[in-house]
Amino acid sequence: MSTPVVSPHADAPAIGDTRLLIDGDRVDAAEGATFDVFNPATGELLAKVAEARAEDVDRAVKAARRAFESGPWRDMKPAERARVIWKLGDLLLENAAELGGLETLDNGKPFLQAKGGDVPAAAGLFHYMSGWATKLEGSTIPISFPGTFHTYTKREALGVVGLIVPWNFPLTIAAWKVAPALAAGNTIVLKPSEVTPLTALRLGELALEAGIPEGVLNVVPGFGADAGAALTAHPDVDKVSFTGSTTTGRTIMRAAEGNIKKLTLELGGKSPDIIFGDANLEAAIQGASDGIFYNQGEACAAGSRIYAHRSVYDEVVAGLSKAAEAIKVGDGFDPDSFIGPLVSKQHHEKVTGYVDLGREEGTVASGGTYAKDGGYFVTPTVFTNVTDESRVVREEIFGPVVSVLPFDDTDEVIRRANDTRYGLTAGVWTESMSTAHKMADALKAGTVWVNCYGVFDAAMPFGGYKESGWGREMGGIVLDDYTESKTVCIKVGD
Ligand code: NAD
Repeated sequence: MSTPVVSPHADAPAIGDTRLLIDGDRVDAAEGATFDVFNPATGELLAKVAEARAEDVDRAVKAARRAFESGPWRDMKPAERARVIWKLGDLLLENAAELGGLETLDNGKPFLQAKGGDVPAAAGLFHYMSGWATKLEGSTIPISFPGTFHTYTKREALGVVGLIVPWNFPLTIAAWKVAPALAAGNTIVLKPSEVTPLTALRLGELALEAGIPEGVLNVVPGFGADAGAALTAHPDVDKVSFTGSTTTGRTIMRAAEGNIKKLTLELGGKSPDIIFGDANLEAAIQGASDGIFYNQGEACAAGSRIYAHRSVYDEVVAGLSKAAEAIKVGDGFDPDSFIGPLVSKQHHEKVTGYVDLGREEGTVASGGTYAKDGGYFVTPTVFTNVTDESRVVREEIFGPVVSVLPFDDTDEVIRRANDTRYGLTAGVWTESMSTAHKMADALKAGTVWVNCYGVFDAAMPFGGYKESGWGREMGGIVLDDYTESKTVCIKVGD
């Protein structure tokens, strides 16, 4: 039996039911298995959560298939579907303190950021996508084939979609996928990360409360190699949308081959953030600091390679170091904490390994320290005297660690910024309109922010070039990835 263990903070929410959600019911895993979830601020056990394995995933897929084919969701009038999805957005906002608290317990991120950032962002997805339920239109097509035809396209739901999400924005990234999947009339099996399963389970409960029919949204926490692999290989799943590491993305591509599943892959990043000599330096330094240190640096879009023009390089390094030193690292429930613990012991080991490596490869301008026991804390760390070939500059660290490199001219920085296997996001700081446009054109990244960083909105498509992935999340464009286009050609005369 899966049971919550303890809520370690007086003001933290109760953890609630940690069983699977299949076909509208809370159920134990078929084999009765559970896994442990830890509080990263203390390293202590937080909850025991039902562990879905292949048999449970199969049960969830069958429930989703029944719910799809029997049609209560797919065939619901679009305006009614829109109302229900909007209601789910409202319910997230009404429960923002609880959801934010669960995210802090599970992931470690500061409560104020979770409650004031992650939850409204997730709610915004449901509100925005609800509008698309009534706007999934096709077109009429004049064709030149001999004869007279009425030819048109229509958009249909895909069927059962498997959604696999990571631990860094557990609720928000689930919403990126669940909201458009629902708007298009699909049914869902959602597999949260084994590290942070709690908000996904609560999202499933709130979906039922909003009026989403049983079996439409099933939630199966479990491990990637077991539940995740079973979902990606399942012959009755029509599409998988995955966010996570590039390595796992490759495994998923292979696993999806069996029934040629449609795939969306949102993968890793090593994003450049470029500060030109004419930039508003105060804004650029603060923006670059937030761009790397927000969410403990555990962000695919983190601006982890800062290129500063040589004329302002020293000022940028000094300003960034000062900003890093001003950041309070601590328990996420402390309202002064801007950075909480990293998500897990394993991830802490990975990030601190890079902190140690960066010391050898370059110079620590700020930070470089980390907790050795207890919670998984790392201070925001700034490296200088590294090169484009340093591993800390080339590899995704996924923690509060940044390298600052000087550059001399625009073409040089374009070449160096693009010299990476990733292509997720990029930042540019300049007061010159022509530099802004030139950079926006030249950078090989799915999103380019100019004089800002980390602006996300449900209406803005997000995704990667190169090994950062396939497809886009958010914006109207994402609906293409959750629908089939059907062409109908009717002969109406000779
Ligand atoms: P991960 O790849 O280890 O895990 C992500 C999810 O995939 C988890 O739910 C995990 O259980 C599951 N999984 C693992 N192996 C699997 C398998 N063989 N088959 C199916 N599912 C499997 O990633 P993570 O450590 O949770 O997250 C960090 C990574 O995610 C970073 O590389 C980061 O850049 C990336 N990320 C990308 C975006 C984006 O939008 N591009 C957003 C957030 C995170």
